[in-house]
Amino acid sequence: MGIHASPTCTLAFGDNGGAVGYLIGEENQGLVYMFAMMNEARLAVGLQGVAVSERAYQQAVAFAKERIQGAIPGKNGVAIIHHPDVRRMLMQMRALTEGARAMAYSALAHEDRAHKLEDQEQSRYHQRRVDLLTPLVKGWCTEISLEVASLGIQVHGGMGYVEETGAAQHLRDARILPIYEGTNGIQAMDLVGRKIARDQGLGAMELIKDLHPVLRESGDAGLTVIAESLSASLADLKESVEVLLSSAADENWAAPGAVAHNMLMLMGTCVAGAMLAKSAVAASKLQKADSGNPLFNSSKLTTANFFAEHVLPRTASYLAAVKAGSDSVMALDIDAF
Ligand SMILES: Cc1cc2nc3c(=O)[nH]c(=O)nc-3n(C[C@H](O)[C@H](O)[C@H](O)COP(=O)(O)OP(=O)(O)OC[C@H]3O[C@@H](n4cnc5c(N)ncnc54)[C@H](O)[C@@H]3O)c2cc1C
Repeated sequence: MGIHASPTCTLAFGDNGGAVGYLIGEENQGLVYMFAMMNEARLAVGLQGVAVSERAYQQAVAFAKERIQGAIPGKNGVAIIHHPDVRRMLMQMRALTEGARAMAYSALAHEDRAHKLEDQEQSRYHQRRVDLLTPLVKGWCTEISLEVASLGIQVHGGMGYVEETGAAQHLRDARILPIYEGTNGIQAMDLVGRKIARDQGLGAMELIKDLHPVLRESGDAGLTVIAESLSASLADLKESVEVLLSSAADENWAAPGAVAHNMLMLMGTCVAGAMLAKSAVAASKLQKADSGNPLFNSSKLTTANFFAEHVLPRTASYLAAVKAGSDSVMALDIDAF
């Protein structure tokens, strides 16, 4: 596929008479040092996922407002943005992108606090959260960028499949994101192994506890749909962490790896939903105070509502897959593939 016009290159050392290596830092600490760079890179790739998604969305919206095709009751020859299925795709693109952006920014804000706060306990709390969110930002934001860029092509119909519209480029650009800086499979295993199981779920349960009051404390009756949906998804997340911890304790070595992807998608969906719920609380407050940009506030509420109704319910199916474990994943004999 290729990132066209990217300055990616391969360097080969030592082909012509050897190469000299210099030890930087302490011996045998290379992997640890590498992760300082690697974790930043993972967050940056997650942000690339947000950026490609946003570009694909903007382009799809522009096309949907221009392309005349089909009819709606009382009117022939309308722009395709009037059709409910096109609206569904645009809302899906918009909601996933806004959720991903909110999650990425939240992780980066925790990182700033981890670095700058002088109180050691506070700083460690924020570092735990960055550690937990890093594979989610890398994994979830890039997985959804594929969905968003693919929907962008779909909104363009046949024109999306040819090069001239540029819609295909977004999918091509997005396709590398789940691969480099550690494949998303590796991110998922980092999440279940190092970030959840290693501290016996401490960081994960802390996250769930922090996300719960997002809506409960707001007391905003207009946000009931979001509150109920988020609460169901957080219950799914809690159950999945418990299932994971009990499966990590048993003898089945394949179980964590077999459920890791679904665990990452469950947690990512939940965190993004909670971040959008937080945005909805803020937008609702501004709306009630007649403050800020009214269109921005109402759009934020609508998008958060859409996410709660159409995206958050995915956590139930991710949970079902986590609970199913590794049996059918590993059952097929290798010769049968
Ligand atoms: C456009 C582009 C730019 C790149 N830029 C750079 C760069 O600048 N610097 C750099 O160092 N690298 C770069 N890479 C390399 C990139 O980071 C690797 O391709 C990537 O980490 C995957 O490694 P791999 O290709 O060896 O795949 P493999 O490790 O062979 O993985 C193949 C598949 O097996 C899975 N897999 C592998 N091991 C395991 C395991 N233990 N458990 C479960 N699943 C596993 C993977 O998730 C994947 O699905 C770039 C790659 C591309 C395509």
